[in-house]
Amino acid sequence: MSRFGMAIDTKKCVGCQDCVIACQTENKVPNGFCRDWIKTEAQGKFPTIQLEIRSERCNHCSDAPCVSCCPTGASHYHDIGGVVLVNHNECIGCKACISSCPYDARYVHPDGYVDKCTFCIHRVEDGLNPACVSVCPTHCMHFGDLDDPSSHINQLLQSRKYHSLIPEAGTRPNIFYLT
Ligand code: SF4
Ligand code: SF4
Repeated sequence: MSRFGMAIDTKKCVGCQDCVIACQTENKVPNGFCRDWIKTEAQGKFPTIQLEIRSERCNHCSDAPCVSCCPTGASHYHDIGGVVLVNHNECIGCKACISSCPYDARYVHPDGYVDKCTFCIHRVEDGLNPACVSVCPTHCMHFGDLDDPSSHINQLLQSRKYHSLIPEAGTRPNIFYLT
């Protein structure tokens, strides 16, 4: 088994948006929509306030409510890496998945189906990194198999502090932010 995830180094992200543009180009995301985005969050109290810049996207959760609530099975776990995908042909646009996602990671494509990050599974299956990872000028994003103890991503998670987003939602997100 494999479980794909990302470790994103918030110490290195400069918020340049290259990942966002790469995703829009690679995945032909329509104008006005995005599969990934940059969030900036102030943490701490004056005078020790720190700014965390995060490249965010679908967390490809292991307990994904968007999958369990989908009435048609369009939202599903891919055989490889547990990546959460949407089968566009089976999606009826009911938006149940959008309501269930704590991360606001999905949008309705102008063609009527729900769309979101796929971890660029078409590239990953060709042995490439997701587009966002491959273009990042500071190399702050690391993609890999969380089920492989020797993977680079696991080595990072063992050697650094990190957090995930809204862990209290219980979705078991697979994107981790190194701090
Ligand atoms: S982040 Fe949202 S859309 Fe992505 S797997 Fe988790 S619940 Fe589903
Ligand atoms: S909008 Fe599509 S993917 Fe989302 S729950 Fe409805 S049928 Fe499933």
